[in-house]
Amino acid sequence: MGVRYWAAMDRLIEIFGVALFLGLGLVFVPLERLIPFHAQPVLRRQWLSDLGFWVFNRPLLLVLAFLYVGAIGGGLGFAVPVGATTWVGALPLWASVPLALLVADLTFYCFHRAAHAIPVLWQFHAVHHSIEKLDWLASVRVHPLDQLFTTISGVALQLALGFSVETLAITGTVYLWQSHFVHSNLRVSLGPLRWLIAGPAFHHWHHSDRPEARDKNFAGQLPFLDRLLGTAHFPEKEFSQTYGIPDPVPSAYPSALLYPFRRLARMARGLPLEPGEGVHGADSASDQSPLERANFRRDGGEK
Ligand SMILES: [Zn+2]
Ligand SMILES: [Zn+2]
Repeated sequence: MGVRYWAAMDRLIEIFGVALFLGLGLVFVPLERLIPFHAQPVLRRQWLSDLGFWVFNRPLLLVLAFLYVGAIGGGLGFAVPVGATTWVGALPLWASVPLALLVADLTFYCFHRAAHAIPVLWQFHAVHHSIEKLDWLASVRVHPLDQLFTTISGVALQLALGFSVETLAITGTVYLWQSHFVHSNLRVSLGPLRWLIAGPAFHHWHHSDRPEARDKNFAGQLPFLDRLLGTAHFPEKEFSQTYGIPDPVPSAYPSALLYPFRRLARMARGLPLEPGEGVHGADSASDQSPLERANFRRDGGEK
């Protein structure tokens, strides 16, 4: 009983990422106290709901990612010439890691941009944009199907192109830490590297509720992609101050999980979505003040 219990606990800890959570917290929490972007407590509003995302999204995502990569990986594998996978697989790490990062982030950029442009996909991505207080933990507020689409698609492509397991392990680790870094409440300047490495100043603008920042900064790791593709909003001396969207996304994990499906059901039945919601990129958020939008969210548009 004792051995089995501890083995089961060990497995649960691994599944729920307790060690990783503590490691990230030990790094980011003190730093966010030392050099904060915005003055806010560690246990800021909705931190408990984000903890729920951490605990429940992880095991769900592991299963979904396994199925998703298996389902689309085969098709992608057939599309890639054998010569290409052999060449990629033989690359030394110093060459394969930057190339794999580029492949992953270019894929992320395209799928992320689609998630903003296509109303059906936006219903899922809106969960991530419902964040109003950014910090290292807020990065986990993502609908699992949105995460599959925007992030795991890049992993599937990396695998199909023949990148080695070592390369994927390195790029996966870089992605994980960087995803917490870009959401963190850290006032850091990356100086001349600001267009090479995405940091908080870059990604915070992506979450900004300001009209000029809407549908900008789609890259997750490599800001120069936005610069090259004409979607950058990254002023050197100005920082994003307030975040969020008018869509009434619930913060509790089970409700947030169901939110896109409820919205899609309304769309399928031809029922109107509330003003300022649903179709991202062309709605009325810009003519509402942040307070009006906040009140609208708290009232909950959807019944
Ligand atoms: Zn986005
Ligand atoms: Zn984000």
